[in-house]
Amino acid sequence: MALTAIAFPSVAATTCPGCYGLERLQPGVYAEPGLAPAERRHVTEVVEQANQRVRDFFGGRASTPDVLVCLSDDCYRRIGGGRERGIAVLNRSVMLSPRGADPVIASHELAHVEFHARLHGAEVPQWFDEGLAVLVSDDPRYLAPTGDRCLLDSRRPLPVTLQDWLRAASADPQLYAEAACQVSRWAGTNGGKEAVRTLIERLSTGQAFPDIQMSTAVVAGHRAGVGGGCSGRHRRPSRASPTARSVASSNLYDLAVRIWTESPAKADVEAVVRRYFSLLRAGKIPEAEQLVDHSSVRHVLKSLWSGSVGASADADEASRSRAADEWEQDLSWLRELGLGGFNWGHTGSHFYVEVTYRARIIEVSLGFWVKPTDAGWVVAGPSTLW
Ligand SMILES: [Zn+2]
Repeated sequence: MALTAIAFPSVAATTCPGCYGLERLQPGVYAEPGLAPAERRHVTEVVEQANQRVRDFFGGRASTPDVLVCLSDDCYRRIGGGRERGIAVLNRSVMLSPRGADPVIASHELAHVEFHARLHGAEVPQWFDEGLAVLVSDDPRYLAPTGDRCLLDSRRPLPVTLQDWLRAASADPQLYAEAACQVSRWAGTNGGKEAVRTLIERLSTGQAFPDIQMSTAVVAGHRAGVGGGCSGRHRRPSRASPTARSVASSNLYDLAVRIWTESPAKADVEAVVRRYFSLLRAGKIPEAEQLVDHSSVRHVLKSLWSGSVGASADADEASRSRAADEWEQDLSWLRELGLGGFNWGHTGSHFYVEVTYRARIIEVSLGFWVKPTDAGWVVAGPSTLW
């Protein structure tokens, strides 16, 4: 029980909202406690409007997910949220962050849940799943209000698998506009919502996903692997799931955790760590954080500082006058750090890498490990080793 809660906090939160101190506003709607009456009203309205959009589009509801809403980052972190605006979890619930507590994001996530409930396990390409959610939510960022609603029509093949989608969408959020363009155009020329409902019914009875993406007619064969388009939203929790959960989100525009579908080669893993380190050195902390399933970068930086600048200044009188938070006031010291050798453990999944300061190896090493998640293999860490 405790293990589950630690390994997969969002599931614990969504099956037992009270556990995380969320307050029930109405059946199925839970919000951060202590909200002002106006905030509570706002949350209730957001969820009502979002439910309405989903109901209107699908012609009713086949799903009744709980909706958990946080209006502070603290609350969202506590229930297991990541950097996404919102996320649909295990087809049972939707979590909304402070940046996602609006009818568009809420209905986007609710649309994923509704769609998958109706698919009964049938798989669809990830681009269709996302494009449909954009269409249902009527997202003005990615669709024009009327007429041919395409804001971006590239006609290039769009990512079929979740991994490919995340990789591409993290580099280019406009992918959502391209996917929405394809889905809305297909719906528009085939009878609108009715066409989508019919398609879903067919898929749910086992029919194959039709070749509806405009561009794929040209690039035949690209969509050979339609399977695997699973969004991860209806996966079972597993011990390694927090990452899988956090990457299985839409609206994760900034996430670039490298995900491999098979256990990666050491050289590939080392390349990610080198990139991580070079971003740290450049003071690009948020960018570095995105490369790995990270521990607290603050903690890492503090340890690196103690092992480098802090250690070399110990004998120095001047060190006594150093401010306790000097290491974070000015990150230029990071540029004098370098990476030493990689030392892999015998299991092939754990390794540590030495760190140098002014060309000398310091006492602190960084430990990383490669771990499987539901979405694929990722590099996790670093831990600081003394
Ligand atoms: Zn989405």
